[in-house]
Amino acid sequence: MISDKMKPLVGNNSAIRQMFEEGKRLAAVYGAENVYDFSLGNPNVPAPKEVGDAIRAVLEEEESTFVHGYMNNAGYEDVRDAVADSLNRRFGTSFGRGNILMTVGAASGMNVILKTILNPGDEVIVFAPYFLEYGNYVGNYDGVLSVIPPNTEDFMPDLEELAKHINPRTRAVIINSPNNPTGVVYPEETIRKLADILLEGQSAVGHPIVLISDEPYRELAYDGAEVPYVTRYYPNTVVCYSYSKSLSLPGERIGYLVIPDELEQSGEVFAAASIANRVLGSVNAPSLMQRVIRRCVDVQANVGAYERNRDLLYPALIKYGFSCIRPQGAFYLFVKSPVQDESAFVNVCREHRILVVPGSSFACPGYVRISYCVSYEQIQRSLPEFEKVARIYGLLGKESGRQD
Ligand code: PLP
Repeated sequence: MISDKMKPLVGNNSAIRQMFEEGKRLAAVYGAENVYDFSLGNPNVPAPKEVGDAIRAVLEEEESTFVHGYMNNAGYEDVRDAVADSLNRRFGTSFGRGNILMTVGAASGMNVILKTILNPGDEVIVFAPYFLEYGNYVGNYDGVLSVIPPNTEDFMPDLEELAKHINPRTRAVIINSPNNPTGVVYPEETIRKLADILLEGQSAVGHPIVLISDEPYRELAYDGAEVPYVTRYYPNTVVCYSYSKSLSLPGERIGYLVIPDELEQSGEVFAAASIANRVLGSVNAPSLMQRVIRRCVDVQANVGAYERNRDLLYPALIKYGFSCIRPQGAFYLFVKSPVQDESAFVNVCREHRILVVPGSSFACPGYVRISYCVSYEQIQRSLPEFEKVARIYGLLGKESGRQD
């Protein structure tokens, strides 16, 4: 009964499911406070108070049939105006409502833009390690993922390889900064070089190459790191944004695409993307959440909470002898496995009730991802267990493992 295309996806999903079940099993045996679940990217920071206030205000102040009604597939005009104005204020852009398409989070935004631009067989370049769902999204439209191997030196995109990977079948390149799973932020210089390569590449292949900038972690940057606004560097950029992480609203499913005027055939792409939103079955982004976003466009994410977590966990792991890039954004640490087979390391961590995700889940074996969007107390409680794991591998006292 299940389609051939779905069968492998069901298989992959059960690996994640297993992790979830394992967490529950361990919690039942040892008590939830003795299980250190660093597996999911589900923000532990509560949604800002302004969000709750806005929900109440929308319900009290706006007309019910309007709030709960159908609207333009691209979203309410006043919401798109508010998002555009906020971006213009913050990034010196000049977007209007015609550039903003409200989506059902980043996952949906990615699907909308890929459905809009891909023909079967078109290639989409990604840099490993990458969010593995990209493969599923691209596969939905019979595109082909073209994976650039990881640059484990500093996890910046390997631009030499990018130039080599571009060919007449290349339709798009996906970047994600701040990055899941490494936490690196691509600096302006990198974006400039990337833009130069794409400009050269698209003139060589004779058609536009769309740079899709997947940015659910844009607001989560530390140490004053700037996250360049990519449309300012490369005209054929589409930005995919989500409020899942910045406002801790992953279950509410709200985000947007930015389709700038500079994009080739921008108007046609926007119109097609609005239709893609409908025919994919989401029709439009959730109405109530759009009304809420209009009131919350400038609400700040609680970056401090994650930064505090990083500042506890990262130096501790380095002290124990683990090797890891110091993340400047998102809420992940990408730690080198002390043994090449990271699944063995994941199992040893599990024996210490520490749940982490194997790097193979991001096309980068030999590493594990630790999500530190958990309580500060969970990190504190987990440290002695991390230390025990480090002892097992003889890492303690080898502080040279630091990579930054
Ligand atoms: N892109 C990346 C890199 C992510 O890490 C995630 C979620 O973790 C998404 C997209 C999907 O986000 P959303 O909840 O907005 O669909």
